[in-house]
Amino acid sequence: MAPYDIRVFGDPVLVTPARDVTEIDGDLVRLADDMLETMYEAPGVGLAAPQIGVQKRIFVYDIGQGPGVVVNPRITERDGGWEYEEGCLSVPGMSWPITRSARVHLSGWDLDGNELSVDADELLARVFQHETDHLDGVLLLERLDKGQRRQALRTLRNRAIGLSLEDSRPGPGLRGPNATPGLRGPNATTAGRD
Ligand code: ZN
Repeated sequence: MAPYDIRVFGDPVLVTPARDVTEIDGDLVRLADDMLETMYEAPGVGLAAPQIGVQKRIFVYDIGQGPGVVVNPRITERDGGWEYEEGCLSVPGMSWPITRSARVHLSGWDLDGNELSVDADELLARVFQHETDHLDGVLLLERLDKGQRRQALRTLRNRAIGLSLEDSRPGPGLRGPNATPGLRGPNATTAGRD
């Protein structure tokens, strides 16, 4: 069993900006390990600390190239635009085509206290933007256009009061490359559900 439950839409921790990490120590390394385990079990390709109820600026990711951890991340450059079908483990069962920057530069720290400086594009750039948003208390719902957001909130509200007739299977979220549906390629069809 995963060490943590993933918090879902409606939990105030998801809309609260996280605080900078002030010390990289054994506790933080353990937290990162637990976050990775939770992410893999979901499964997802990224997880930010607020999603497990921890208000610290740290996220973990793995887009199929091995695990990564970023402490106090900052996106310092953005370029281009790319639309991609995107979901979130904290908003299970829903996904939308969302346009974000195609390329970003991310800076931060690793768990050894070394400064990180990473140029990322496509899926990795997408994950960095999505997880950094989580640390700012921003869910992907805020990246939708007005019509999409209205529809999404109506669906979530109906679910919350048990009126939804929708399939309530878990997922899609920010998922691993072998899981479907989830964060999918640009040619994937949408889930076709509200
Ligand atoms: Zn998310």
